[in-house]
Amino acid sequence: MPGMIYLDHAATTQIAPEVLEAMQPFLFGKYGNASTLYDLGKISKEAVEHARRQAADVIGAKPEEIYFTSGGSEADNWALKTAARMYRRRGNHIITTKIEHHAVLNSCKALEEEGFSVTYLNVDEEGRVRTEELKRAIRPNTILISVMYANNEIGTIQPIDEIAKIAKARRILFHTDAVQAYGQIPISVQQTPLDMLSTSSHKLYGPKGVGCLYIREGTPLKSYIDGGGQERGKRAGTENVPGIVGFGKASELARIEMPYRIARETRLRDELIKNVLREIPYTRLNGGRENRLPNNANFCFQFVEGGNLLVLLDMKGICASTASACSAGEKPVSHVLKAIGVPEEIAAGSLRLTLGKNTTPEEIAYTVECLKECVRKLREKSLAYKEYEKTLR
Ligand SMILES: *Cc1c(COP(=O)(O)O)cnc(C)c1O
Repeated sequence: MPGMIYLDHAATTQIAPEVLEAMQPFLFGKYGNASTLYDLGKISKEAVEHARRQAADVIGAKPEEIYFTSGGSEADNWALKTAARMYRRRGNHIITTKIEHHAVLNSCKALEEEGFSVTYLNVDEEGRVRTEELKRAIRPNTILISVMYANNEIGTIQPIDEIAKIAKARRILFHTDAVQAYGQIPISVQQTPLDMLSTSSHKLYGPKGVGCLYIREGTPLKSYIDGGGQERGKRAGTENVPGIVGFGKASELARIEMPYRIARETRLRDELIKNVLREIPYTRLNGGRENRLPNNANFCFQFVEGGNLLVLLDMKGICASTASACSAGEKPVSHVLKAIGVPEEIAAGSLRLTLGKNTTPEEIAYTVECLKECVRKLREKSLAYKEYEKTLR
């Protein structure tokens, strides 16, 4: 199979041609500062406001509730740190989960150093928060709950509607990191009473370095980046106009193409999961089959080291991931797999394959064949596998 097969869409995506086309005039030509008053600036301003509507429409928000940021990490830092510090007088307790992205986990760690107390909820074997456990964790001094919409490693979608309602009933601020869910699955801030939601453009065929924080009207979140009065005084810094325009276009495409993308990716994902589990012994699927992002498959191959598997797949032209790209090289074992109870030696053989809107059935078939071969090769070299085989004889 010629060319590269990209199965790491949860790490990042290539911008869509329509996105590139929308951005181009703002990279060269229409370079005005969106805060200036002459025509060149007004053109940029109008483009930013158009993008704000495009982003708002994905989740049923009002444009005024969208604040552009430099991406998901900034949105998470802003939501958690600023909300926690603002509500400090009411209490110092925060609830999150053990499977959050490091933008949330490390923001919580930083807050612990400032004297906040954080409860990291367990999840079930599929990676879902048990709402009963959440209710039990709430204390009179709980000021903030943050639970991700969908997990970046194993694709598990959380019962966000239920969680948001629990938080609202107790008047606790609720934030969700929706970076992996925004534009991928239906989200409605009209139906779900969440207060803040983080997104990122580059997981969605938009450019890197841009995203937004949705802040529900009436939620008094102060700014995190101080400076000029951009974004209605909530987020200083000259607007990244080409980036914002690209993000807006990517959001619009995601909204329009969502049913089609979901149907297509789900079908290919299920094909992939079925064939990998059937063709390769001693393999498990991480995460559940229900409540799973349409594009995510995550496996553990026993007696295999994930890093070695990545190298062999790379030689076949396949881009995949073990644990999450953001923590590659940091920690050998994924905190997410640990939280869902995968034993350490099995978690070491994890592989995440995340499909995209242009993934083809041929690519999936080729990937299954390559995986079969690569896993077999690695197991042939594995002492643990040889020992295990002996016990079978
Ligand atoms: C990628 C990702 C982030 C970080 O977003 P950036 O725009 O890369 O900073 C945060 N949360 C989740 C769940 C992610 O997948």
